[in-house]
Amino acid sequence: KKITIAIDGFSSTGKSTLAKQLAKKLHYIYVDTGAMYRAVTLFAMRSGFVESGKVDEEALEQKLDAIELKFEFNSSLGYAEMFLNGENVEKEIRTMPVSKNVSQVAVLEAVRKKLVAMQQAMGIDKGIVMDGRDIGTVVFPDAELKIFMTASPEKRAVRRYKELLDRGENVVYEDILENVQKRDYIDSNRAISPLKKAEDAIEFDNSDLGLEDQFQRIYEHSLR
Ligand code: C5P
Repeated sequence: KKITIAIDGFSSTGKSTLAKQLAKKLHYIYVDTGAMYRAVTLFAMRSGFVESGKVDEEALEQKLDAIELKFEFNSSLGYAEMFLNGENVEKEIRTMPVSKNVSQVAVLEAVRKKLVAMQQAMGIDKGIVMDGRDIGTVVFPDAELKIFMTASPEKRAVRRYKELLDRGENVVYEDILENVQKRDYIDSNRAISPLKKAEDAIEFDNSDLGLEDQFQRIYEHSLR
């Protein structure tokens, strides 16, 4: 029987790597909700609604209906890419400028309302692995399996640094560490749907655990 798997946790804890592997093994759909917040952020930046880290909430709210988000599966990559109003923005949404503004956009009530409704609609048929910050607490409080991932900030920043270097971005480690910590702070302390472990979530600290071990343990949980 197909279930819903909710994976939450701090930035760059390896949530998406794990979620992709699980989805592949179980033949489930994988949804990266961070990509949705990132795409809305890119839209806001391009529209001139973000200035030195401040978001013009009213202007963005008025334009929310003009934002069309779509995931399109890319079989050679093995996962879905994010499209914003018909444009493939998968690469651009992962860049540092977007990372620096995304948490300020994600605090906005109207933005969360729109995206949470979309996410709930995607999960209506179960057989889904979704990762984010509020999946087990808000989007799917009834998910059969909830995972909460943690790891030390330094481990996470190193992981993120390598990822961005691999993608050819010109990045500074200290910048990334600062961004990861700042986002964790904003995400955990915001008024609406703050990042926290759902009571019934299983916590995984993967600072030292190899990714393969971790995957195996969580996969076993998904079969129970
Ligand atoms: O997962 P990722 O690091 O790409 O998420 C980017 C940002 O989007 C997070 O730091 C957080 O501010 C926001 N987010 C959120 N709720 C989610 C997923 C992401 O607020 N479910």
